[in-house]
Amino acid sequence: MRILLVGAGLSGAVIGRELAEAGHDCRIIDARPHIAGNCHTERDADTGVMMHVYGPHIFHTDDEGVWDYVNRFARFMPFQNRVKTTAQGRVYSLPVNLLTINQFFGTTLRPEEARAFIESKADTTITDPQSFEDQALRFVGPELYEAFFKGYTEKQWGCSPTELPASILKRLPVRFNYDDNYFFHRFQGMPQDGYTAMVAAILDHPRIKVELGTEYSPEMASDADHVFWSGPLDGYFDYRLGRLGYRTLDFERFNHDGDHQAAR
Ligand SMILES: Cc1cc2nc3c(=O)[nH]c(=O)nc-3n(C[C@H](O)[C@H](O)[C@H](O)COP(=O)(O)OP(=O)(O)OC[C@H]3O[C@@H](n4cnc5c(N)ncnc54)[C@H](O)[C@@H]3O)c2cc1C
Repeated sequence: MRILLVGAGLSGAVIGRELAEAGHDCRIIDARPHIAGNCHTERDADTGVMMHVYGPHIFHTDDEGVWDYVNRFARFMPFQNRVKTTAQGRVYSLPVNLLTINQFFGTTLRPEEARAFIESKADTTITDPQSFEDQALRFVGPELYEAFFKGYTEKQWGCSPTELPASILKRLPVRFNYDDNYFFHRFQGMPQDGYTAMVAAILDHPRIKVELGTEYSPEMASDADHVFWSGPLDGYFDYRLGRLGYRTLDFERFNHDGDHQAAR
């Protein structure tokens, strides 16, 4: 079969590789001038720093088969995401955990005491939370909401937490222990030579042909027996049905000497 895959990110590359190994010819196109999609990495010529161009990417999974698969194509370095944030001029650990709670409130609570304390802060007059803000106030009360959830959410979603559904709060758990590893997964790391090198290795197969700088057009489908789309879902419909709301970040680039870890 002749397969057309739209998108040379991780999805397009892995699907292409699997199909190529099964004996199918794969044409993979991408509108961008590089492979690896939003996981694209490049080494900064001035500093030698490996940059994750569209965002920081930590590979994390509980699935040993997935972990073995990516380790076929890249050497992974151990990495655990231990996030810090500032609130009211002080540095705290995120996601909100027992250290955050004790430092923020100046307490020395044990897990069950902290749970009861946070429950005492919750706004129980909110019986049917509709928005993210309702849910946060219902769950953790006003102090933690203002300090750790409100600004973070405005920054990531680009809108007020009153406009987001309550279900989104599930992304920001509160832990009543000192575990500050952002992800729970058993396998976590980053490829030593970056994701673009890893994706290049996945795409390196005689049955795979990659064309960069090539935008998909529906006529291309007639040359293929099957088309896989790995671009944005709304983009598949040429945005005729509207645009989906995506969570993302804006990046500003600074160069500093040494180990510069800014807490701002
Ligand atoms: C800021 C940020 C941080 C993130 N951090 C993490 C993290 O730490 N860990 C993690 O696991 N995930 C993270 N992610 C998510 C991760 O980036 C995605 O899950 C991953 O990139 C999805 O791969 P994909 O191949 O499905 O899609 P994409 O990487 O989006 O690739 C799709 C490709 O399709 C191409 N394309 C789209 N439309 C067309 C078209 N019409 N014609 C031709 N080509 C087209 C695009 O150019 C793109 O290269 C993060 C994402 C962002 C934005």
